[in-house]
Amino acid sequence: MSKKSNWKPATQLVHSGTLRSQHGETSEAIYLTQGYVYASAEAAEARFKGEEPGFIYSRYANPTVDMFEKRMCALEGAEDARATASGMAAVTAAVLCSLQAGDHIVAARALFGSCRWVIETLAPRYGIEATLVDGTTIGNWEKAVRKNTKLFFLESPTNPTLEVIDIAAVASLANSIGARLVVDNVFATPLQQKPLALGAHVVVYSATKHIDGQGRCLGGIVLSDKEWIDKNLHDYFRHTGPSLSPFNAWTLLKGLETLPVRVRQQTESAARIADFLSGRPEISRVIYPGRDDHPQAALVKRQMAGGSTLICIDLKGGKKSAFGFQNGLEIIKISNNLGDAKSLITHPATTTHKSLTDEARDQLGIGGGMLRLSVGLEDADDLIADIGEALDANV
Ligand SMILES: *Cc1c(COP(=O)(O)O)cnc(C)c1O
Repeated sequence: MSKKSNWKPATQLVHSGTLRSQHGETSEAIYLTQGYVYASAEAAEARFKGEEPGFIYSRYANPTVDMFEKRMCALEGAEDARATASGMAAVTAAVLCSLQAGDHIVAARALFGSCRWVIETLAPRYGIEATLVDGTTIGNWEKAVRKNTKLFFLESPTNPTLEVIDIAAVASLANSIGARLVVDNVFATPLQQKPLALGAHVVVYSATKHIDGQGRCLGGIVLSDKEWIDKNLHDYFRHTGPSLSPFNAWTLLKGLETLPVRVRQQTESAARIADFLSGRPEISRVIYPGRDDHPQAALVKRQMAGGSTLICIDLKGGKKSAFGFQNGLEIIKISNNLGDAKSLITHPATTTHKSLTDEARDQLGIGGGMLRLSVGLEDADDLIADIGEALDANV
């Protein structure tokens, strides 16, 4: 058995999947090429027949993208993967590639806005029905199952309210009816939660978030077993072309090298900031997976290896107070992104969740006073001072 199989995540994230050229470069090469030349007509024929290994066209595969996919597979414990140009390309591929008209999806209703659009609006246009449920109770998933249910979809922790869904329970329901569970694992990161080990069948990421981690490029990835990818994703991917650019794959490979250090620091700072926020009189509620007062603290302990880099808070003064607080921050920037080295704050009701109906927002508990904070790599003392001053000034 090769020593590689015993590597811990931090080692995998620096070395797994590396493909060195004849020059022996230390840092991974960027293969910014569309195509590949063949030594002879016979070699081209053999490559196309699949009799000789090698690359054919960068919509199908590319060496730099291949390194990113292999490194992610090692980390996730997945047999195979396909990297995509964005997180949404990964979600769309994972949801649509295995379904056809007449199939049914059950999804947790607390979803990233675009994921909700793909499931609730796009899929039904092609005859794929969808039911959205409050995913925190397994009974709701069971009740939604129909004869034609083929796919379950969830995010955990959810955006922005950081609810946690029992992945093992939903996976076991999926197995009992021969359906598949797709988990969007962005908020947990591949380090804090292992959906495949919990029984999920497919994992998707927006690599735009913690995997890049420095706000530079978009990217995504779908990971699963080789059989599912060969059967469902392989041709879909080749012929619809959601492929990741080699340059962005390289940027994401560099991001993976520092992922454990960043996520560890950001989680540690977030835990401190959550404790500070919970002691402030202006704030009615702090939701932080990792604190004992999280509504599903026991499940967090069971399912996640650590807390979160994100915090959700509710200000007593509603929208006016939330806006005043955001405007008073100096270090923490107002932005709808997350997982960045820079701390970012967003007001979901008027930005990321603006397109939902008032009723849908109420169901999800997204009110005017709610803010989502993504904790970055700044010194935690400076962040706490910035928050404290902005709260003090916001009268
Ligand atoms: C950002 C995000 C996406 C979409 O990713 P993009 O890279 O922006 O396309 C999907 N799901 C979740 C949970 C996200 O946070």
